[in-house]
Amino acid sequence: MWNKVLDEYAIRCYKPRILIVDDQPVNIHTLSAVFHGELDIIVATSGEKALHLALKQKPDLILLDIVMPDIDGYEVCRKLKNDPITEWIPIIFVTAETEANVEAYGFEIGAVDFIAKPINPAIVRARVMTQLMLKLYMDNMREVAWLDGLTGLYNRRRFDEMLKQHWLLCRREQRPLAIIMLDVDFFKRFNDNYGHQKGDDCLRAIAVALKGTLRRPMDMVFRYGGEEFTCLLPLTDLAGAQERASAILNAIKALQIPHATSRVSPFVTISIGIACTIPEQEKGEEDLLNHSDQALYQSKSDGRNRITTWPGDKPDTVSEV
Ligand SMILES: [Mg+2]
Repeated sequence: MWNKVLDEYAIRCYKPRILIVDDQPVNIHTLSAVFHGELDIIVATSGEKALHLALKQKPDLILLDIVMPDIDGYEVCRKLKNDPITEWIPIIFVTAETEANVEAYGFEIGAVDFIAKPINPAIVRARVMTQLMLKLYMDNMREVAWLDGLTGLYNRRRFDEMLKQHWLLCRREQRPLAIIMLDVDFFKRFNDNYGHQKGDDCLRAIAVALKGTLRRPMDMVFRYGGEEFTCLLPLTDLAGAQERASAILNAIKALQIPHATSRVSPFVTISIGIACTIPEQEKGEEDLLNHSDQALYQSKSDGRNRITTWPGDKPDTVSEV
């Protein structure tokens, strides 16, 4: 049964990773021994270290001690559940306190299970494997819910989540985050002239071209809706985003998809809006999105087939006609 769980992970080319947190090294050692060789194990001897590792290494499961000298297990759990980057990681408390009210409280703040100390290896193994299996299914379900059926790109729901996550990450590191928003010029006319089938083909071709312009694994492209697409570029300054946007504009031009009823070109073109900032506040990612939308609107009203960037008193427009 458990081998099947590990096989499912292996199909996806990785070993499940668990984080074991306990202030007593001997407890970490005992728990690690249960999964020796089967799982990728990382360990932390304090709550602070656990939070850091959970964020950086994104484990598939956390075995969490409750009583620790710095930040206790409850606080670690609450913090992880409040962070969009770590909220989906299942947490199992490992504790000598097995009173009902302790367990109830743990479930209330987001734990998925409890294991009593001193541990029984067979029980630990069963509980961990069960949660790893559920985690895998949940990940798969979310992955499907994140995809746009027509283009195979990530959808708007995923964009909203990733924007929130990268906003927090860039804010923590005080690094820039850029959004590129783009829209197909005169797409309604394209559909009216060539039909919706060709319209769908056009959107799919654009999606492939967009993916082809990505340079780093952390850069992502999304179908935002209709004929609108977005790119999320973490750790990218304005100059970097402008370079990406130029590459995108040229990549779509190079497709040479005929568009007889466009007013700007015999081929399909796009308009682009860019916004870039170093996040200052916890919330505010929607402002960045609005700014990219405003820049896109400016590109449209200035004649389409061009790039407009935000910030600026007056958006700086680069015509590529
Ligand atoms: Mg302890």
